[in-house]
Amino acid sequence: MDFNKKQVFQFIDEHRDEMVSLWQEVVDMKSGPHEKAGIDAVANRFQTVLDEIGATSRQVAFERAGNMLIAEFGMDRPQPGVLFLGHMDTACPAETVAGRNFTIRDGIAYGPGVLDMKGGIVAALYAIKALDSIGYKARPVKVVLAGDEEVLHAHSEAADVFVSEAKGFAAAFNVETGFKDNGIVVGRKGVMRLMMHTKGVAAHAGNDPENGRNAIEEIAHKLLAVQRLTDWDKGISFNVGVIQGGTTSTTVPEEATIYIDVRYKDPDDYAWIMKSVEEIAAKTYIEGTTTTVRYMEGIKPMKTTEGVKQLFEVVKAASAECGFVEPYAKFVGGASDSAYSVLAGVPTVCAMGVKGARNHSPEEHAIVDTLFERAKLLAACILKLDEK
Ligand SMILES: [Zn+2]
Repeated sequence: MDFNKKQVFQFIDEHRDEMVSLWQEVVDMKSGPHEKAGIDAVANRFQTVLDEIGATSRQVAFERAGNMLIAEFGMDRPQPGVLFLGHMDTACPAETVAGRNFTIRDGIAYGPGVLDMKGGIVAALYAIKALDSIGYKARPVKVVLAGDEEVLHAHSEAADVFVSEAKGFAAAFNVETGFKDNGIVVGRKGVMRLMMHTKGVAAHAGNDPENGRNAIEEIAHKLLAVQRLTDWDKGISFNVGVIQGGTTSTTVPEEATIYIDVRYKDPDDYAWIMKSVEEIAAKTYIEGTTTTVRYMEGIKPMKTTEGVKQLFEVVKAASAECGFVEPYAKFVGGASDSAYSVLAGVPTVCAMGVKGARNHSPEEHAIVDTLFERAKLLAACILKLDEK
């Protein structure tokens, strides 16, 4: 192992307690979905850590979403920079986290967001600190953290911010939930949530049925058509997951709504999906009903580009040099903001955070030692970018 890497590893090993205590502190600052005050507090805490080592930092404030944190180092360095991406919100709402403070038992850490993804962010910050401690100046380093990933950026422009902040960078490391099987994510499906609403005409089911226009019957035709859009070969699936409508069985229903979850592999399929659903909405089966579709929220797919594959090879090589278990390239169904750095043309690897399992559940946990391992790997990957 070369001198720089040895110094970086030593720095991380000497700061193990400090890393765990920051991890504990931010896990205990609860920041569930839409809990803006908690999320913004986490942003402030991470900002302080980054500012202490000389970052130029700012927050992008949103009224109805957690703020974004952006921190930069050495933006005037001549080579294209490296990015760390993540999110500060968790999938654990306030009502589910009582009694779930950060705890460690037998080398495993528990708590809301311990894995997804506060541990990963702590690892990234200490990779940056370790590089700073050896006077790393090869490339600009930027951290971009969202405050509303778990709610698919429903009330923010975070997706656009990711794209614009990422442009021109050489590599991005998303410190999302790491996998115990050592998979490093090179591709992810995208998700979109749509609402389709049909308005009919209410009428008494006994006295006046012929003047009613049954919104449930109309939307029943449409939901079958939506389900049939699923194309397994292309990796596009439609799931009508919620149906609502009607008031009493004696009334021809005036309103009906379905909520649709769409998963897709190729960002270019977005337009086809929207067009197909809009066409189904526009076709009327029962005259006198009208149907509208609304895009609610979503995250685009993370495409496995050539650049992504090449960056994965860098991770693999760096990992081997560190003596860590060999990672493999993994494709997963769940979306992340890596989609947006890839869309900006930046090679990106995802799931570089602490390793664990059961995120989005009360059993969420992470392996404590992987906090240090991943901080070392992240720093080693960045050093590797400049090895000839
Ligand atoms: Zn996450």
